[in-house]
Amino acid sequence: MANGKENDASKGKTKAKEGAQSATKPPAPAEKKKKKILKSPKAPASTPIPIIEYKGPRPCPFIEFGCEQKEAVDLPSHISTQPVRHLSILNDGVLAMKIDTRRMYTDWEELMRRLNRAALMEDRMIKAYGSHLLWKIDNWSEHMAAAKENHKTVIFSPGFYTARHGYRMVASIAPYGDGKARGKSMSAFVAIMKGDWDGILDWPYGHPIKLSLLDQSEALGQRQNIDFNIENNAFLRRPDRERNASFGAQHFIDLNMLKTMEYIKDDTVFLRIVIDTEEMLGH
Ligand SMILES: [Zn+2]
Repeated sequence: MANGKENDASKGKTKAKEGAQSATKPPAPAEKKKKKILKSPKAPASTPIPIIEYKGPRPCPFIEFGCEQKEAVDLPSHISTQPVRHLSILNDGVLAMKIDTRRMYTDWEELMRRLNRAALMEDRMIKAYGSHLLWKIDNWSEHMAAAKENHKTVIFSPGFYTARHGYRMVASIAPYGDGKARGKSMSAFVAIMKGDWDGILDWPYGHPIKLSLLDQSEALGQRQNIDFNIENNAFLRRPDRERNASFGAQHFIDLNMLKTMEYIKDDTVFLRIVIDTEEMLGH
């Protein structure tokens, strides 16, 4: 490979020669020769190949790769007098690009590995802890008052999925009781909603559901949650409307008992809905 000193020397010569050329007889014969070589007859007319323009003096196109010829120069003579230098410059550039490409590819692979790991973790979490909805109901006294006055007897939770690709459900509460339980017990229900994965799930729905009213007492040992297990029911078929009828516990908790413990604290009630997804995860 050419060393720096040789290059500098030849550059100097080139500049001097070129100056004389352009003054006397432009265009230089070397230019014509180059043009002929570049116009390859094999190149299809429909796909234009970007070609370095050799007309007139211009900066060296290899600047990006490290050539220091920033001032305009006659390119054919500039390159032909230092072919080894330009080849080596180009080689270095290609090598650097190759390293960059490899690094980008490695980064991409690492990113995909992390994404896959995250998806796997999510699946494992659902398997380990089952799927549940923890429904926090604020402004409890307002809900209770509205229910008593028959303004709004039922409140609904946000819809939720029993698993990543599971059933879609919604929970509901009648604070002042539903039907026969009105004025006696708070009622709690769930309903199956139309979901994205219904087409590949088993019907009728056949997995246990557990409703829990959480006791918010500060000491864990003192807490007495109210649990209700929902087993079989008539509304477990695949929904053909937005949601099926609700099912659950009309007498979920006696209204007087609701005032005990710390089921209501800071005007807030927590209802937890746990779905046993063990069998479901076989899908
Ligand atoms: Zn150059």
